[in-house]
Amino acid sequence: MAKLIDGHAIAEKVYVDLRHEIADLKSKGVTPGLAVILVGDNPASRTYVRSKDKMCRELGLHSMKFELPATTTQVELLARVQELNHDPAIHGILVQSPPPKQIDEAAIVRALDPRKDVDGFHPENIAKLALGDPTGLVPCTPLGVQRLLIESKIEIDGAHVVVLGRSMIVGKPLALLLMQKNKNANATVTVAHSRSRDLEKITRSADILIAAIGRANFVRAQHVCDGAVVIDVGINRVKDAVSERGYRLVGDVAFDEVATKASAITPVPGGVGPMTIAMLMSNTVKACRQFGRGGSPEPTANANPARID
Ligand code: NDP
Repeated sequence: MAKLIDGHAIAEKVYVDLRHEIADLKSKGVTPGLAVILVGDNPASRTYVRSKDKMCRELGLHSMKFELPATTTQVELLARVQELNHDPAIHGILVQSPPPKQIDEAAIVRALDPRKDVDGFHPENIAKLALGDPTGLVPCTPLGVQRLLIESKIEIDGAHVVVLGRSMIVGKPLALLLMQKNKNANATVTVAHSRSRDLEKITRSADILIAAIGRANFVRAQHVCDGAVVIDVGINRVKDAVSERGYRLVGDVAFDEVATKASAITPVPGGVGPMTIAMLMSNTVKACRQFGRGGSPEPTANANPARID
C-alpha cells in the first residue's frame, strides 16, 4: 500500500519557516502585504479568497481583501490594480480567477507589476521560469507539487515525470519547473494531454505521475506502474447524496485502486490543495524580500528598488 503524502503536514512545515522569515522582515521594519481582489460572487472563489485572507492574518501578514461587484468594468478593475501596483505596503496582488465575462483576464495579468504577481502568471514571470531565473515568481500549484516531492524525500533528479495536463496554471509551468537544471528538478519530463496517443503507455512509464486534468477518478490502476509516485492535482465535485452539501471532492486519480500499486500518493482533499495556499504565502514573502518597499511608478525602470536581504 502506498505511503500517504500529507499536504497539511507539509504546509505546516512551510508555515513554520515562513513565520521566521516574516519575523525577520518585521524586525527590519517591513510587513509583507498581500492584496486579493474578488470580482463577482462565485461561491467557490469567495471561499478561496476568505481562506487566503485568513491565512495571511494567521501568519501576521498585512492583508487587503477587495470584494468588487459582478458589474465591475475592465477599466475599474485596471484602476484598482494600478493603485495596488503603486502601494508600497502591498508586495503581492492576486485577482481571483475566474472573473466575470466582461473582464479580459489576460490583460489584467499583464497590467500587474510582475514583481507583485504572486500567482506567477505574468509573461515576465513565465519567461523567468523558462529561463531558470530564480528572481521570478513561480505559479503556486506547481511550486507546491515540487515542495511536496522534496519534503517527502522523493528524488526528482533523473526521474521520468509524466505531467497529465498542459494548462498555463498547472501542467505547463510544472513541466518547466521540474526540468530545470538544479538538484530539486533535473527531471525528464513528458507532458501529455487530451490529444496524446496511447496515454496508458505514457503514464505507465512514469516514475512520478502528476495528474492535472480535471476529470474525476480518470487515472486508474492500469495507468500506473508498480512503485510509481502519484501526485493528484485534480479537484472535482461528484454527486454524493450522503453528504450535506450534496457533493464531495475527488481528484483525477481513482485513489483506492491506484494506492495499491503506487509507492506514495497524495489524497484529495489534503494533498496538493493545502500546498497551493502555502506557496501563495511563500511567494508574497519572497516578493517582499526581493522588492521590499513595494511599487514604483515605473516597475521595470528600476529593477531592484530597496531590496531587503
Ligand atoms: P484545464 O481545464 O485548464 O486543463 C486541463 C488539461 O488536462 C488540458 O491540458 C487538457 O488537455 C487535459 N485533459 C483533459 N482531459 C484529458 C484527458 N481525458 N486525457 C488527457 N488530458 C486531458 O485545468 P487546470 O489545469 O486549470 O486544472 C486541472 C485540475 O486541477 C482541475 O481539477 C482543477 O480544479 C485542479 N486544480 C487544483 C489546484 C489545487 O490547488 N489543488 C489548483 C489548480 C487547479 P487539452 O489541453 O488538450 O485540452
